[in-house]
Amino acid sequence: MPTHILDGRALSRALRARLTPRVEALAAKGVRPGLAVLQVGSDPASGIYVRNKVKACTEARIESAHVELPGDADEGDILERIRALNSDRRVHGILVQLPLPPRLAADRILGAVDPSKDVDGFHPFNVGLLTIGIPRFVPCTPLGVMRLLAHENIRAEGRHAVVVGRSNIVGKPMALLLLQKGATVTICNSKTPDLGDMTRQAEILVVAAGRPKLVTAGMVRPGAVVIDVGINRLPDGTVAGDVDFESVSQAASHITPVPGGVGPMTIAMLLENTVLACERLFDARHGG
Ligand code: NDP
Repeated sequence: MPTHILDGRALSRALRARLTPRVEALAAKGVRPGLAVLQVGSDPASGIYVRNKVKACTEARIESAHVELPGDADEGDILERIRALNSDRRVHGILVQLPLPPRLAADRILGAVDPSKDVDGFHPFNVGLLTIGIPRFVPCTPLGVMRLLAHENIRAEGRHAVVVGRSNIVGKPMALLLLQKGATVTICNSKTPDLGDMTRQAEILVVAAGRPKLVTAGMVRPGAVVIDVGINRLPDGTVAGDVDFESVSQAASHITPVPGGVGPMTIAMLLENTVLACERLFDARHGG
């Protein structure tokens, strides 16, 4: 049977269109959702991601601010900026662009964001809520993956899901979301002795390793759903996923392309979380 390509661009467009009436309802109350993106240093890839987020906000009529701090900014200054954004009533969502320069303590910086404005879901409080099964803000990339699965009526319940990667921003929250849906979940990492042995057991395989074409056809169970989170810039300037699309698409029942799969869903979820944060903060301030 031919593989079904999961079109993250089309679904992301549809989900973004669904935000319009919510943004209009807020505008009728005199509120415009606002997102602040804090970037430390001038990593070129981060710069591209931030510009894409700012552009998507503009299209969704969400106010955005790109707060840029120099790469050598000290932790005290960064924390000060975050506190100012926490108390700014025009800002409903705060995102700290990762990766931060390695000399900085990412946990202290992410932990300084007001949890009610933490639209990336990286604050320990929101991580805890996700872990105990009552999520408030869910990290955008795994949330986008779950939306793609739901849209295609792909059920996780009772199925074996394998997640390759254990980062706090993709692998771990991804595994938790699949677990909450009733999947049996295996999480692999760089020390997993025989990765193929694990991935071949997956009915749903999510790959977030940051290794171009790590997963090849022989590592995939025929008929599996394959979600490729990876975005890897190759020396020739092209972008490749963590999955060898050409060969794996011969085996998989469903597969996401790179680009055009998970990436656009991440942006749609960021916009959705920002609108949600704005609605919640408005209700909290006005007793809604
Ligand atoms: P990290 O580098 O933080 O984590 C990568 C994970 O993969 C680690 O847990 C690592 O294991 C594991 N890993 C690496 N190599 C192997 C291997 N050979 N076998 C098994 N596991 C392995 O990356 P992120 O989680 O931040 O991102 C992963 C990928 O997803 C990247 O390509 C990134 O660009 C992309 N990404 C895409 C997004 C989107 O919107 N589509 C959003 C965010 C990320 P260990 O812990 O042992 O080192």
